[in-house]
Amino acid sequence: MKYIGAHVSSAGGVQNAPVNANKIGATAFALFTKNQRQWFASPLESKTVEAFKENCEQYAYSPDQILAHDSYLINLGHPESDGLEKSRAAFLDELERCEALGLSTLNFHPGSHLKKVSETRCLEIIAESLNYVIDKTISVVPVIENTAGQGTNMGFCFEHIAQIIDQVEDKSRIGVCIDTCHAFSAGYDLKSEEGFDKTWRQFDEIIGFGYLKGMHLNDSKKPFSSRVDRHESLGDGTLGIEVFRRIMKDPRFDAIPLILETPDDTRWAKEIELLKSFVL
Ligand SMILES: [Zn+2]
Ligand SMILES: [Zn+2]
Repeated sequence: MKYIGAHVSSAGGVQNAPVNANKIGATAFALFTKNQRQWFASPLESKTVEAFKENCEQYAYSPDQILAHDSYLINLGHPESDGLEKSRAAFLDELERCEALGLSTLNFHPGSHLKKVSETRCLEIIAESLNYVIDKTISVVPVIENTAGQGTNMGFCFEHIAQIIDQVEDKSRIGVCIDTCHAFSAGYDLKSEEGFDKTWRQFDEIIGFGYLKGMHLNDSKKPFSSRVDRHESLGDGTLGIEVFRRIMKDPRFDAIPLILETPDDTRWAKEIELLKSFVL
């Protein structure tokens, strides 16, 4: 079973996300549980939590069909103590929001070294951050997203992700999300059949499919290996449509949220329909 959806709007409150997902025919969705461009948010009110759970039930979304995304401000690998403390507090708050909403996963970008520490040290700081927040929460699983490797962002190769996981104490509380645009921009050739097979063989050897908790399905505006993160609608970019057909036909991507983050939200319903048609 494939769970296919998009990162839908939570405008007006998180309870609207499942409603918005249902409108576009999604069987999965991603959401921000707070304004992603602000550090702090007031706690979720119990009526909001109830409405969210009711709407998820009404439209048949279980926690394994939902992948929350954290704020873009957070840097769990921050090289300076002030920035690191702020990031850890904000991430912990987001994990707690997810637990309140009954969600099981929170997707995040690993972090950036800002040219102030080595890559190895940055990965250590990220793992230390994860151990700290995992210890303070009950069940929600932080999900590391691969990046395009823009600027000083870590997580553009599978080895980075594996090094983080190696240092996380509770391996049952860590997962991975692969963004197709980011992987292609970082130099993983998902476009050709041979490259697709090789990439996933490497993924399994270096990280392991057991950790795969979600996928972001995006085409790319930028060329292969450009290290630039610019999403494009499916089939309109440099990656092309075939990779998405292959993913839909591959049982290794069953039962996890497959999430569109493509730029034109008026096309999501059609994109979801197309992806569903590939499964058949
Ligand atoms: Zn993504
Ligand atoms: Zn991206």
